[in-house]
Amino acid sequence: MENREVRLQDVRRKLPEITGTWNPVTGCMHGCIYCWARRYAERLSKMEVEPYAEKGFQPAFIQDRLRKKFSKNSFIFVSDMGDLLGDWVPDEWIDKVLSKIKMLPHTHFLLLTKNPKRYLSISLPDNVVAGATIESNRDYPNLSNAPPQGERIEVMNKLNHVYKALVIEPILEFDIEEFTEIVKEISPSLVYVGYDNYGFKLPEPTLRKTLEFINNLSEFTDVRLGTIRKAFYEK
Ligand code: SF4
Repeated sequence: MENREVRLQDVRRKLPEITGTWNPVTGCMHGCIYCWARRYAERLSKMEVEPYAEKGFQPAFIQDRLRKKFSKNSFIFVSDMGDLLGDWVPDEWIDKVLSKIKMLPHTHFLLLTKNPKRYLSISLPDNVVAGATIESNRDYPNLSNAPPQGERIEVMNKLNHVYKALVIEPILEFDIEEFTEIVKEISPSLVYVGYDNYGFKLPEPTLRKTLEFINNLSEFTDVRLGTIRKAFYEK
């Protein structure tokens, strides 16, 4: 057991920064009010860029993108323009993406979802980093139609996989002790933390509280920072 823990920690240290994105599946129906991807898809649609020109932000599978080549030791963010594991995504699309990933054991792939329960019904290769967005320990049902934070937290706790990641972005007001314990129990290899970048005036924590939280997390995991700033109401 001890040897396995040492081995996992060694492996975890090797995860690089994200080196690129890959969007074989696009679109999302969670309807978060702060979604930058939906706004970007609208812009691309007006520029006649596919699949957005035809599909907008509706789910789409772009078969040709399965041919994309990746260099060894890169770390690819999969479907940052959607949610690959949304309930609306057919199993077949996910299977095809995972089959491609399995063929590339020297490249790591970050999957990121607000519907992590789907991880429990698929076989994840070891080069997948199973990510979930969890913006707070509290629920904010007015901001998104995605499964509630409580469900996401429970599933990420249950999930047994070599690499797990949490994305706390855009960070929302939270309870520091409870949220720290939640993240510790999930035991992610990576945690990304950042504030909203698009001026949505979300219910944000103060900068001081966020820095204390980051400090807590840094004691047991690899924390990577997005935009860190004062809450909009502090300015
Ligand atoms: S889950 Fe992500 S991609 Fe989907 S609507 Fe929310 S922010 Fe946008």
